[in-house]
Amino acid sequence: MCGIVGYIGNKEAYPVLINGLKRLEYRGYDSAGIAIINGDTRIYKCKGKVSDLETFVKNKDVSGSIGMGHTRWATHGEPNNVNAHPHKSQYGHFVVIHNGIIENYSRLKTKLEKRGYTFKSQTDTEILANLIEYIYLKGKVSGEIAVRLALTKVIGTYGLIVSCKEEQNQLIAARNGSPLVVGIGKKEYYIASDATPIVEYTNSVIYLNDNDVAIIKKDELTIKTIHNDKQIPKIQTLDLDIGEIEKGGFDHFMLKEIFEQPKAILDTFRGRMSANKTDIYLGGLYNVLPKLVEAKRIIIIGCGTSWHAGLVGEYLIEEYAKIPVEVEYASEFRYRKPIIYKDDIIIAISQSGETADTLAAIKLAQESGAIVLGICNVVGSSIPRLTDAGVYTHAGPEIGVASTKAFTSQVTILTMMAMLLGKKRNVLSQEEYKNLIAELTKTPDKIALILKHCENIKNIAAKYKDATNFLYLGRGYFFPVALEGALKLKEISYIHAEGYPAAEMKHGPIALIDEKMPVVVIATKDKSYEKIVSNIQEIKARKGVVIAVVTEGDTVIKNLADHVIEIPDSDQALAPLLTVVPLQLLSYYIAVMRGCNVDQPRNLAKSVTVE
Ligand code: GLU
Repeated sequence: MCGIVGYIGNKEAYPVLINGLKRLEYRGYDSAGIAIINGDTRIYKCKGKVSDLETFVKNKDVSGSIGMGHTRWATHGEPNNVNAHPHKSQYGHFVVIHNGIIENYSRLKTKLEKRGYTFKSQTDTEILANLIEYIYLKGKVSGEIAVRLALTKVIGTYGLIVSCKEEQNQLIAARNGSPLVVGIGKKEYYIASDATPIVEYTNSVIYLNDNDVAIIKKDELTIKTIHNDKQIPKIQTLDLDIGEIEKGGFDHFMLKEIFEQPKAILDTFRGRMSANKTDIYLGGLYNVLPKLVEAKRIIIIGCGTSWHAGLVGEYLIEEYAKIPVEVEYASEFRYRKPIIYKDDIIIAISQSGETADTLAAIKLAQESGAIVLGICNVVGSSIPRLTDAGVYTHAGPEIGVASTKAFTSQVTILTMMAMLLGKKRNVLSQEEYKNLIAELTKTPDKIALILKHCENIKNIAAKYKDATNFLYLGRGYFFPVALEGALKLKEISYIHAEGYPAAEMKHGPIALIDEKMPVVVIATKDKSYEKIVSNIQEIKARKGVVIAVVTEGDTVIKNLADHVIEIPDSDQALAPLLTVVPLQLLSYYIAVMRGCNVDQPRNLAKSVTVE
């Protein structure tokens, strides 16, 4: 949430900042702003998108080789010009951009007000700018010391960049809870919330740790903690291709990412199988595998789509490895005093690896002595660094705010884990294990086939784009898929949708069904096929509209449902990977036809780094 970019070096800062903000816009798009530091400090900011900022600065002086930029996802104060970042301190000594939340802002504000400070914006960030300035003026200390001291007084999360008027040759960056990466160029440095604004200039980066403060001059970088302990920077090489973060001919990132799923899944399992495809290796779990195999209980934590992937994981691991699994919303888990045993294994799932609630839940689990594993997509992000072991999904950057390929690659990892544990625990025979692996390897081609027939889904979307409610039903493995389908529709088309276990329909949602209610039913051939056919009958008896996702060649449901979307036959363990794809496409087309901004849905942002 919120994108931060900074530059200090010899070239013009503005193009770096504006291009960087465009790359980071998926993290927030309420408002955007830049500060160029060049003798004086010029701040340009406005409500709206980065393109609005670009128009706003046209014909204005943006020359200078030091600067910072911000694209906001508002937490404190509505999105407007005044609340947009950067924020200047009262007497103009400091300029600040910030990602995160200053939780004790109210107490700090009262104290500063008593000392004569007034506030122009409603943001928590302006309080931080003034706090730094107050300490700077009162203590007659350097900008760096003022920033560090101020941060010791702050409770909350931040990724920030600060510039001090009297020390214009440097930028100060700091992080706690919100990610920051420093890119190393030749006599120049880049700072950003993630590597996407940096990759076109350099692939040498340093990921800041919590409590780090980086003092960045164009030819010198010092990293210390807020308590002034010097840190040795760990330089890493980025493995990111610029093509991966561009739309590549698709209208939207979301569509590109839906279509990338065959490759994303392939990249997720490639290199994790023996050459003859009869065994699975999850290198990241190597050290913890014996404990995982003996686990008495696994707790999966996540938020949103990752939580849905976790539910699929529960069904898979319980069925194929016979280990009890619980799935928890990270935000509930962290606050509800859960009982965590030392020998529990916690699996934290997060695309970005930065999800604030998941990070907090991990820390709680670690305090109880449990082993925590991560399933994340962004390499080098906070969760993989914090957890004891884990597996990267390798799905490539996901820019669309509504998660698609991250979901299927998370489910792929969980499927592989279930198979591997099943084999190691002797629940699965060698034969069953081999067959499941073979099925998994066929999944990318099957998804490609579904994508080929997207026209049918587009036609269905055109028919129901004006509906005000949708119901999604599934049984067993398809219940989490139904939840995910409903979430996708809500997120990008703003149509109210609910996902339910199909059998639960008669305990409530059936009351909603009438001739205006489209009901998406995942009804492929599996052990509960007959039951789901009965559910479809129940919907039709009440004049509901049925859009059924069926196994190709199914004639029974074809005769009952209003529309069918066929998918290739597959083993039930792999079917969630297939059945979710038409639901993603249905939401996508409906949202586009309703004129919604698919990649930047209102009120949402990717990488939820605030609670
Ligand atoms: N809390 C700050 C604000 O509302 C920063 C939000 C963000 O991370 O974009 O302005």
